Amino acid sequence: MRPVSETLAADGRGEAPPPAAERPVRIERAVAVAASTLLADEGDDGIDRVLDVLLEATNTDFVFLDRNVHDPERGFGFTNVAARCRPGLELPSQVADIFTFVPWSRLPHSRQRLEEGRAVAFTVDELEGAERRFYRDVVETVTRSVVKLPVGRRGRWMGVLGFARTEAGHRWSDDDLDLLGTVASLIATFWERQELDEARSTSMAAMARRIEMEHALAEAGRMLLLGHGEDSLRQALEALRRATGASFAFVNTCEDDPELGPVICSHVTVAAPGLVATAADWEYWRRVPWSRLPTAYRQVAQGRAFAFTIDELNGKERAWYEQAPTRIRSEVKIPIFIGGDLAGIIGFSDLSRARTWDRQDLLLLATAARMVGVFWDRMRAKETLEKLVRSKDEFVAAVSHELRTPLTAVVGLAQELRSDLGRFSRDELEEFVGLIADQATEVAHIVEDLLVVARADIGQVNVAPTRVEIRPELERALAAVFADGEVTVVGDPATVTADPRRLRQILRNLSTNARRYGGPRVEVRVRPGDGVTIIEVRDDGEGIPPELRERIFEPYRTAHDIMGQPASVGLGLTVSRQLARLMDGDLVYLRDGSWSVFRLTLPS
Ligand code: ADP
Repeated sequence: MRPVSETLAADGRGEAPPPAAERPVRIERAVAVAASTLLADEGDDGIDRVLDVLLEATNTDFVFLDRNVHDPERGFGFTNVAARCRPGLELPSQVADIFTFVPWSRLPHSRQRLEEGRAVAFTVDELEGAERRFYRDVVETVTRSVVKLPVGRRGRWMGVLGFARTEAGHRWSDDDLDLLGTVASLIATFWERQELDEARSTSMAAMARRIEMEHALAEAGRMLLLGHGEDSLRQALEALRRATGASFAFVNTCEDDPELGPVICSHVTVAAPGLVATAADWEYWRRVPWSRLPTAYRQVAQGRAFAFTIDELNGKERAWYEQAPTRIRSEVKIPIFIGGDLAGIIGFSDLSRARTWDRQDLLLLATAARMVGVFWDRMRAKETLEKLVRSKDEFVAAVSHELRTPLTAVVGLAQELRSDLGRFSRDELEEFVGLIADQATEVAHIVEDLLVVARADIGQVNVAPTRVEIRPELERALAAVFADGEVTVVGDPATVTADPRRLRQILRNLSTNARRYGGPRVEVRVRPGDGVTIIEVRDDGEGIPPELRERIFEPYRTAHDIMGQPASVGLGLTVSRQLARLMDGDLVYLRDGSWSVFRLTLPS
């Protein structure tokens, strides 16, 4: 900044008559007092004292200090921070109001010089236009002649230190102005230090808050890691709510409603002490279609946090918040994803403040959302595992049951034979041994299916395809299950490429099923084709309901869980499809008129 005397000289106002000898001395003393006061950092009191001292030392009528303000709505202007009047001189009452904010655009003459770091001195009569009117209308009683010194440092203009007299024509000496310029730059330093202190304490407060949030996050993480149920989620959420100071914190789940489409459902809500989420609130937020909250949905579905005050919302979204039983003022919602799907949100709402969340806050909350996602994922995995264990138990029970029936027959018959072999006629012996062989074969077949499933799980089933005549294999499989005339085979002889042992296993399963679950008429059709041969095992039974037509090919649970067949293992179709596919074929179920059809395709 240029020295004031120089700028005044340039302005042609420096050649005032020599001042009374004692004045600079008084002003010098005032500068010293000002310096020590400001250095002692007495805050706004200190500024008042400095103005008092200056008023007296300069023997002016009015001293004022204005600070520049960048107001987002009103633009660049200034506000008066302190003013002192000579005793007996009254300031008009409107002055205080007017000087809470004056746009610099109203005082272009002063602004131009001050902005350049130069002092400005004028009498009101010398001014022109609007600027002159401003002084005349507003502060005429105290202001005839004015001198203003820019308060600033290192090129930054921060405000104005001004002196005014009720009479016109007063001239300031260069020395006086130089000394007062020193006070102005002391004030600038004082303000800068205040700003630094403020910034420091703001950042300290922010840091303290962040540390508190991080603690809460760690605590929430511990609860979610160690805990299982909803209670852990509630405790974790409460830790986060406390740290954020929010009125409510909540976790909602996202679901697909067959009628409403995507909905958001209340899951856990916690409230600040003294607040409660009422039954009406709970009901209101229990199941809200996302279509009511379009902006929020757009944001969170894209993985972004959505922080808003209710005033910022529009249309039906705003109406939805305004009609809520408990009206909140601001809220933030953060999405919870599991494996790329929006599984829910975690949110914090404030009743009375229009809260803003900075990036750091949102990052911490996003971490919290990820932790809830992992927690849910773990809960789901645990449930699946429990279900699996349950279904394995049921499976073992079913397999044992299936094995026990034929084994009981084998054991019973064998014991009979051993106790007194001579008692039986040759025919009886042949029948018994035949029964034992059949039942033992049944056991062997079940075990064979089990082995395929167990190995297929780990990818170790081997198939050795060769050319196989279908008809003889088919007849053998059917003969083991059906009596003569119970089943018809239609179609031409055909050859397929398959592993004969595995083909037999499939045919055996399909014919056993047709007999067990199918209608009275059973028919097998063979259709040799170009590249593939189709073998259909058909029966005229009820068949399988459409929604289960794929599920019956799933292992274990399918049959007994869904179809209510307590004694079935539910592996036959799983195994048959696996084997068909291993041989480059397939097995599907379809309905053909009144026929229930299992269609096996194999390469010709
Ligand atoms: P399991 O016979 O041990 O139950 P499968 O995998 O062979 O196992 O069959 C699965 C289920 O499919 C059976 O339990 C039965 O309910 C149904 N199913 C199979 N074949 C037929 C059929 N021909 N008609 C009606 N239902 C059938």
